[in-house]
Amino acid sequence: MSNLKIRPINTGFVTTIPKEYLFHHSVVKYVPNIPDHRIEMPVFTFLVEGGEKLLLVDTGMAWTERANTYHHPESRQPEGMAIHEQLAKIGYRPEDVDIVVFTHMHWDHVFYMDKFVNAQFIAHEREIDFAFDPIALYYKSYEHPALGITRPFEGAEFTRVRGETDIMPGVRVFETFGHSPGHMSVEVDTREGRYICAGDSVFVLQNLDPVPEMHYEITPPGRFYNIVETWNSIVKQKARAKDKSFILCTHDAGLIQRTETTPVIG
Ligand SMILES: [Zn+2]
Repeated sequence: MSNLKIRPINTGFVTTIPKEYLFHHSVVKYVPNIPDHRIEMPVFTFLVEGGEKLLLVDTGMAWTERANTYHHPESRQPEGMAIHEQLAKIGYRPEDVDIVVFTHMHWDHVFYMDKFVNAQFIAHEREIDFAFDPIALYYKSYEHPALGITRPFEGAEFTRVRGETDIMPGVRVFETFGHSPGHMSVEVDTREGRYICAGDSVFVLQNLDPVPEMHYEITPPGRFYNIVETWNSIVKQKARAKDKSFILCTHDAGLIQRTETTPVIG
């Protein structure tokens, strides 16, 4: 087992209505206290230190105005929270990053790519193909040129992967489709065990809980591209992780508190 360390880095806040977005309509009556108004969710990226190469999982969200205009209203990226500003606070420049692995290519996971001039960009082949040619329903998610803007990954060169693939010693990706066509999760070996950076394949840790009233082994989310793939990806990761604490979600507010006491995991 390698001794890699994971540093969750929050790049801002997107707003969402948990009752519509984080939980499937069939379970909302069984999950206590789900807000049905807009709340803020963090947008974490994950820096993997101590390995052969410096690796980042996702590059996070856009600046406030961009996020508001094209995405969820009232989303914000406070001063100092853009990925390059956050990296500077811990002594890195974007140029220091050797590899960026994208869980998927929605706008809140791919911003500021042009700052990572030395990085190899890795994404699933199915995600890359869809991101460049989505159905109109997903034009905003991928910032399609039809909106009159330049998508954050325009012109970028990607290494295309599929299946389960080793990225460097101690880090591998595996397919967790469903939130998006080619979503993948990143597994990192640490002294404590194997952590999974799950991106949006598990929105919040509550999505891992069973719903006995419905005979569900998990709590499915409300937003997805394919609910069967989404379901199976959650089941798969639940079985793969030692326990819930080994699954790191991009948008789980619980991770904000966790990083306050444990800024470096592993
Ligand atoms: Zn997201």
